Amino acid sequence: MRGSGCRWRKCTFCDYHLDFSVDKEANYALNSQALEKVTGCYGKLEVINSGSFCELDERTVEKICETCVKNDIGELHVEFHWLYRSQIPFYRACFAKKNVTLKVKMGVETFDAAYREKRLKKGIDTKEPMEIAAYADEICLLFGLGGQTKQSMQRDVLIGLRYFERVCINIMVENSTAVKPDKAVIQVFQEELYEVYADDPRVDILMENTDFGVGDRWERRGDKDGDYDAK
Ligand code: SF4
Repeated sequence: MRGSGCRWRKCTFCDYHLDFSVDKEANYALNSQALEKVTGCYGKLEVINSGSFCELDERTVEKICETCVKNDIGELHVEFHWLYRSQIPFYRACFAKKNVTLKVKMGVETFDAAYREKRLKKGIDTKEPMEIAAYADEICLLFGLGGQTKQSMQRDVLIGLRYFERVCINIMVENSTAVKPDKAVIQVFQEELYEVYADDPRVDILMENTDFGVGDRWERRGDKDGDYDAK
């Protein structure tokens, strides 16, 4: 899906926020095309936009709801940034009226709050996983960054599994930001942690950010000038 754009836009490692349009009609047309392809074969749907779910236009949100009802989809997974946390109950209630359970995913990246806020500028102003879990059902973690270790990554996964239903591990890939993947850290993850969590049904591991079958890598598109419009 494409929305009006991430309101936060400060995460140092991210260029997804360049994928947006202020043209609601164009966004709705694009999003509708994608929604027409939904079959409901899993009974669950994950909506990904480069930002937060509430940054999608109203008609798209309505169409997502209709698509769930039409295809017997009882579980909808969506993303919200921490700054929108007060809006989450509203969206949960709206979808619940149609018998759709909203599962909220939040990009936490790491539970090391100092690292997260000083180096990644994530914009989550609590150190407490339990406080985040009051809003989010699932989290994303970002591994493969300088300074991370086997112990720090394992700690993040264990906290994630203790407080949340699911953990999605994203391995840092090269993009147009100054934050670069740390190959040595990625190797540690691959050799010492990948096997531990690869078969865990509560853990997703994305070695590439396109592993969910969404988007395109920026360097493959020869698009290194920041005009990145696909996630
Ligand atoms: S990671 Fe998410 S919240 Fe952070 S700037 Fe990118 S799109 Fe926005």
